[in-house]
Amino acid sequence: MAKVKNEQRNDFEYKHIITYLEDNQLPLSQKHARRILLKAPDYILIHGVQYRNRKAKSERNKSKSAYQLAVPHKMIDTILFMIHDSPLGGHSGIQNTLEFLRDDFYFPRMGKIVTDYVASCHDCQSRKVTNLKTKAKIVPYCTPSEPFQVWKVDLFGPLKTSPNGNQYLFTASDMFSKYLFVLPIRNKDMLTVSNAVFSLVSQFGVCETLISDQGSEFIGSCTQEVCKMFGVHQDFIPSFMHHCLGLCERTHRTLAEYITPYIEKWKEWEFILPAVVFSINGSINQSTEASFPVIHISFNRFK
Ligand SMILES: [Zn+2]
Repeated sequence: MAKVKNEQRNDFEYKHIITYLEDNQLPLSQKHARRILLKAPDYILIHGVQYRNRKAKSERNKSKSAYQLAVPHKMIDTILFMIHDSPLGGHSGIQNTLEFLRDDFYFPRMGKIVTDYVASCHDCQSRKVTNLKTKAKIVPYCTPSEPFQVWKVDLFGPLKTSPNGNQYLFTASDMFSKYLFVLPIRNKDMLTVSNAVFSLVSQFGVCETLISDQGSEFIGSCTQEVCKMFGVHQDFIPSFMHHCLGLCERTHRTLAEYITPYIEKWKEWEFILPAVVFSINGSINQSTEASFPVIHISFNRFK
């Protein structure tokens, strides 16, 4: 924090505001002084460190901390790297990077700076898949009325073999809350996949329906046995209708975008997988307009 404090005092945006807040001194130029007087009420000094008072414009902001750290110009890149490039940031898109950032930080022209940063991120550019060509009509499928009632399961891979010998990801998206469950698995054999289904059910409880494509690992007797044992209904979507489950396609694509840069760089990708999944589940979902913990809490409250 000492470094931040120091940099704030050298920063062309903040130094005059700090002088005014601490010693009530204004710059000599009238025009400049007026600017400082206008800006100063937005800021507060806590133990000599400058914070911005968050204006609670929306309900969602009211639940967040009232102060954002005023990031000095020189430290913007470091903060952006932390928020966007680290495993927790997961190279998320412009909107989500901005949301994460705004939780704790502020600097002038945030929107423009973040947009430029993400748009020019090499990892993002080489990984992001375009939405344009793959957009198919979204057909409504069985609509769940509560969380963990209907899961859409799928496989993702093959990936670079992890030190644990895992090469695939078993993924399950909850059709109600959009919550994503991911489990690294060795191969896509029937037995391995049915074990993954068992893990899902043992962690989240018995669901009503499991939707999957018609891959042999899902149609196969092992998975069917597990489902029969728990009384879970299996629904299969024909492969040509794979794009119909718009949400799950999108969740899958998000996972691919988030995880691939790390798999390429690190052999031990499995260790950062929980952070990546946490980051996806924590980011604002575009169809529910809530991150998972929020929707989960509010659902339980109104039940
Ligand atoms: Zn990126």
